[in-house]
Amino acid sequence: MNIFVFLGAPGSGKGTQAKRLSETKKYHHFSTGDMLRAAIRADAPLGKKAQGYIKKGELVPDDIMIGLIEDALSCLDNSSQVILDGFPRTVPQAEALDKKVSTTVNSAIFFDIPHSELIERLSGRRTCSQCGESYHIDFSPPKKPNLCDKCDGDLIHRPDDKVDVVKKRLEVFTKQNDGLLKYYGNRRNLNTINANKPIETVESELKQYLQ
Ligand code: AMP
Repeated sequence: MNIFVFLGAPGSGKGTQAKRLSETKKYHHFSTGDMLRAAIRADAPLGKKAQGYIKKGELVPDDIMIGLIEDALSCLDNSSQVILDGFPRTVPQAEALDKKVSTTVNSAIFFDIPHSELIERLSGRRTCSQCGESYHIDFSPPKKPNLCDKCDGDLIHRPDDKVDVVKKRLEVFTKQNDGLLKYYGNRRNLNTINANKPIETVESELKQYLQ
């Protein structure tokens, strides 16, 4: 199984790019944030375990996240191409992924962007409460106010996209990310993209690393 890991701060655009690529049907896209939010909406046991951490902008414990990804990958056949968006977030998660039989992390792609840019991106981000599609009130607004272009679901400002939680999420990200960059750097499969560019420019650079 060929795995592409997307690393980057919340709001760096990795989810947007992963969704665009998965629309080509070439890749299976797993966003751990979306999976957890779906579990919360469904009032599932996983959602109950995760919601306190998410609300505070903290990471959900590694054992829960590793189990979630192992289950998701076990449903795929060995020829699959997979994009992991938001996993791994810690070195133990990266190690667990590498230990999984018949998976190879082809490339870890780091979406690099100044943190000053992220506060603006996240405070203007609106997310579909049904399908998870993202919009920005100024840079990529929906066609109809507050409604998703794809499924007509209501758009919400995620509680963890509000400024105080965003600051905590960025702090948590900064603490974990250096370790991950070192981990993949040592394995020589780290690529860095300047994510502070228009969506289409980032997408065409990204495609070089997905061969
Ligand atoms: P995201 O939508 O990727 O920004 O994730 C939203 C929240 O879900 C994060 O702030 C964490 O609380 C939790 N989360 C998502 N992925 C992970 C992960 N791999 N490890 C730990 N917590 C995660």
